[in-house]
Amino acid sequence: MDKLWAPWRVEYIRNPGTGCFFCEGLRSRDDRKVYIVERGMKSFTIMNRFPYNNGHVMIAPVRHVGQIMDLDDEEIIAVHHLMTRVIRALDYSMKPQGYNIGVNQGRVSGAGVVDHVHFHVVPRWQGDTNFMPIVSETKVISEALMKTYEKIKEGLDRLDNLEI
Ligand SMILES: [Zn+2]
Repeated sequence: MDKLWAPWRVEYIRNPGTGCFFCEGLRSRDDRKVYIVERGMKSFTIMNRFPYNNGHVMIAPVRHVGQIMDLDDEEIIAVHHLMTRVIRALDYSMKPQGYNIGVNQGRVSGAGVVDHVHFHVVPRWQGDTNFMPIVSETKVISEALMKTYEKIKEGLDRLDNLEI
């Protein structure tokens, strides 16, 4: 696998913030502001503001638990359900050619937030390792994030219209 170069992540590494990023997002009443694309009873989907690639989202349980072993059966299904939905939405809206899907568990693995487990979904396109540095300025990134947010929402809305 080609490694993605994401220079804007330096800001995230320097300013990791306080508290839990996921619980803070959940507390917000403005989903657009915190880039939550979908909420369920047991899980939710939020965009990564320091993406490894365009369309990078994370699916987390609502409950603040640190490891995949802590999830109960309902949460496992809820997380998987939202993961499937956002992948279908991304397929429709952004047409990636593949995905990296996975969990970083524990600080040593590279996890940024170690005590609230989350599943990464990173869309991949042929040649994308060369594409992202073009939009490496923070301002451009935030504009690009909102555009991507709208695209994912559009894909999710379409799913809702297909499903009974
Ligand atoms: Zn949390």
